[in-house]
Amino acid sequence: MEKRTFALLNDKKRTMGALGNHILVEFMRCDPHVLNDVSSIERDMVEAARKAGATVINSTFHHFSPYGVSGVVVIEESHLAIHTWPEYGYAAVDLFTCGEMDAWISFDFLKEAFRSDSYSAIEMKRGSKNLLKRIDFDISSSRQKADEWVNPGMYTRNVWFTDKDEFQALSLRYTGEVYHDVTTAYQRVRILESPKYGKFLALDDMVMTTENDEFHYHEMISHPAIFAHGNVKNVLVIGGGDGGTVREVLRHSGIEKVTMVEIDGEVIKACKQHLPDIAAAFDDPRLELIVGDGISFAEQATHSSYDLIIVDGSDPVGPAEGLFSVGFYNNCYKALKPDGILVAQGESPKFNEAAFTDLHDTIEGLFGKGNAYVSLFYVPTYPTGMWSFQVGTKASATDFGHIDAAEVEAFVQAKGLKYYNSSIHTASLALPNFVRQLLQRK
Ligand code: SAM
Repeated sequence: MEKRTFALLNDKKRTMGALGNHILVEFMRCDPHVLNDVSSIERDMVEAARKAGATVINSTFHHFSPYGVSGVVVIEESHLAIHTWPEYGYAAVDLFTCGEMDAWISFDFLKEAFRSDSYSAIEMKRGSKNLLKRIDFDISSSRQKADEWVNPGMYTRNVWFTDKDEFQALSLRYTGEVYHDVTTAYQRVRILESPKYGKFLALDDMVMTTENDEFHYHEMISHPAIFAHGNVKNVLVIGGGDGGTVREVLRHSGIEKVTMVEIDGEVIKACKQHLPDIAAAFDDPRLELIVGDGISFAEQATHSSYDLIIVDGSDPVGPAEGLFSVGFYNNCYKALKPDGILVAQGESPKFNEAAFTDLHDTIEGLFGKGNAYVSLFYVPTYPTGMWSFQVGTKASATDFGHIDAAEVEAFVQAKGLKYYNSSIHTASLALPNFVRQLLQRK
């Protein structure tokens, strides 16, 4: 354990004359996971202020993807700020206070919280009255403002979750509450809550589904294919651990059997507990739930056995990487009945473009040029908001755009669907020119 080094850039006489006290801290050899956890850092920084007797007014924290957190806690006695480099086990912390508050109490608390094994700190007085001259200005207007300002008593939290690639990001403000946070062999499974979108499932740093816009995705991944096929009985769902896809599929009384293969049981558990409206159909007797790898399941699947295969996988990283491979889709193709339909989470023409176009090539290669479709729809909490499902129809006779509109509208009314309808079915297949060009680029 290295000794603390202090540099007191002041002397007794001058101290009394300073407006503020500033401790600059270098926390080193910290636990990198702690330094990458925006919720616990926000919570610890607020607690560090409180421990020293501060009145917390506001906290604003941001998590950078892939790692790093920045944030500030505004207190009546000034502020505490932090920026972390988890990849170095390092956190730069500023404890700036005025008045009687002893910020060393906050220092001690954070040293423990970050499990810092080595640190240094410099304390300096700020705003030496010897150097400052008080200027009388009419404070009535500011006093009036000050009087109008009522201390909210409880502080406002500004904690942000960011899902991004190197060029763009989607940030969701969330309450800072963490309902579920387990790292499995496959991914980090978290349930967080956004004031605007309700509780949401995040896998690693990617938003998977939120209470307030999940229906966009789950209605469009299921109903268009079921109406385009017209006689779906046996369905295979790969992924879909939140349960939203099987919930929508099982709304159709004609469905006899749904087999769902989800690799990570923790996702199912977290969603059953915290997203019950999405994970609403796990007890349906027609559902066979398998916790296992969908890639090997497709490999061993009986040929010509499914009317519909839905690949509701996450982005092409980690366990889901193989869900974008030609080999996997080849096995899915074989497992489909001669008039079967495949629907796959297809990324976005504006985010992960390469995965989007490569998947189209794979499906077109397997199902044939006229039997590969792209259905575009909107999910506000996915980066860019524009997302796709990529479709393959095994029988050339199947026109994915052809539906019985009256039958669809009756179902929409009866089930109270909030996104899908007969016009959206057709509209989702109408691609903007830039997407057509993207797909015809080769
Ligand atoms: N709507 C989300 C999206 O667009 O990214 C997908 C949601 S769903 C939660 C994705 C699920 O796929 C996750 O639960 C993940 O564990 C599962 N998954 C990933 N790779 C898998 C694999 N190889 N086999 C089965 N499930 C897999």
